[in-house]
Amino acid sequence: MQFISTRGQETVTGAQAIVNGIARDGGLFVPSSFPAVSRAELEEMLGMDYPERAAFILHKYLDEYDKDELLSALKKAYSQFEGGDAAPLVRVENGMYMLELFHGPTCAFKDMALTVLPYLLRKGCDLCGIRENILILVATSGDTGKAALEGFKDAPGIKIMVFYPDDGVSKMQKLQMCTQEGGNVNVVAVKGNFDDCQTGVKKIFGSEDCKKKLADKGYLLSSANSINFGRLAPQICYYFSAYCDLVSSDQIKMGDKVNFTVPTGNFGNILAAYYAKKMGLPVGTLVCASNKNNVLTDFFARGTYDAKRPFYKTMSPSMDILVSSNLERLIFELSGRNAALTAERMASLSSTGRYSVRAEELKQMQAEFYAGYAGEGDTVDCIYEFFEEYGYPMDTHTGVAMSVAQRYEEKMKKDNPKEELPPMVVVSTASPYKFPQDVLYALTGNDVKDSFKGIKRINLLTAMKVPEPLKAIRYKPILFKQTVTTEKMFDEVLKFIG
Ligand SMILES: *Cc1c(COP(=O)(O)O)cnc(C)c1O
Repeated sequence: MQFISTRGQETVTGAQAIVNGIARDGGLFVPSSFPAVSRAELEEMLGMDYPERAAFILHKYLDEYDKDELLSALKKAYSQFEGGDAAPLVRVENGMYMLELFHGPTCAFKDMALTVLPYLLRKGCDLCGIRENILILVATSGDTGKAALEGFKDAPGIKIMVFYPDDGVSKMQKLQMCTQEGGNVNVVAVKGNFDDCQTGVKKIFGSEDCKKKLADKGYLLSSANSINFGRLAPQICYYFSAYCDLVSSDQIKMGDKVNFTVPTGNFGNILAAYYAKKMGLPVGTLVCASNKNNVLTDFFARGTYDAKRPFYKTMSPSMDILVSSNLERLIFELSGRNAALTAERMASLSSTGRYSVRAEELKQMQAEFYAGYAGEGDTVDCIYEFFEEYGYPMDTHTGVAMSVAQRYEEKMKKDNPKEELPPMVVVSTASPYKFPQDVLYALTGNDVKDSFKGIKRINLLTAMKVPEPLKAIRYKPILFKQTVTTEKMFDEVLKFIG
């Protein structure tokens, strides 16, 4: 399968799309067309386990990868997930399900792709004939950094370095990163906020001088951020798997429509659901749930994306984003795959902070998506009430999603009282234990200073098992303590590769 840039003429293979990460014209790589999954193939997938389903879907995009090798890489990646199923579907009540994507090594859904990306990248280099070592640089606001470190630790021929803002991540996220093991990893705090950190990393990526210095030492720069097609592709698979689970447990009949609600930041996870629909999965409405940073809610209501607005720090930090990078892939599709128009809009976004779509595109967007947001109070109330009613504890990001999902269903029932709604699958993106203080506050109204105290209290209250990786952190030594200014980031990179 070929991949094209959303902004121009560049055409590459899947391996090149993954190795390069981003197109030369600044655009994102998208498949030249969407591979179809037929009803017969969906039937066939019912009998498969998660890695087999994932291999089946991934190979449709990445057909130059060896299918058996891909399957064994997926088996290995998902064997690290607790409980034996990488993406279990949990029934809450009739018509309402949770798709739990947080059973991986870092307890957030980023693991679904970042446990697989090292293989896709290493093999992609082989397929492209690249012999250099790879250096992955990541700027993180929390979850991606840890998931990338875990995914790439001790990967042959690859080194990974993560920069995080010294005052921008949660205590638990910082502990997770600073206790990271592995012979090829480095973690450094940067003075400033996430934007400073991200700008510093982008500067290195954009500098020919930096790239040359790295090349002299035998290193090629690569990234693991969510615009890489290698991050997106493994996320498409769990939408198919959830559908198969609904059919095989007799919750729906093959061909019935299913709605999904996705807590959204960079628009990567929900875009994967849209791709699944494009491939033929019977999906009804995609509910795009935002927190107080509701730039997407406004976009889906009015057709104007306006990033010039106040930035709020919330209890769902992985959704605190004003520029959702993966949205470019959606507007590319909605424009009828018009690369020139997409390039124009992205140029407008970077110069003025905004762009608008045409009325027909807005109509199409609104037919496929429903967008809503939950404020901090709505989220706390929803986590509390949901636990009271079903005994099911949710993390803060999932709480945002559930709050919006409930509002969507109430609205639909009011607008069309006679119509039966399709079942709703709410995508659960993190373990409640990953954000223990905020979750405990939502459940009990109590504040605790210490994350581990929070974990213990939630455990007593909910009897939900504490994930092993979070338990283990408490007794691990802090291996990374360094803080640098943005000017010194590249010096640290050079020191690291030696
Ligand atoms: C990254 C993340 C999100 C947002 O996902 P996007 O793909 O950026 O939309 C939601 N919840 C959690 C816990 C995350 O880590």
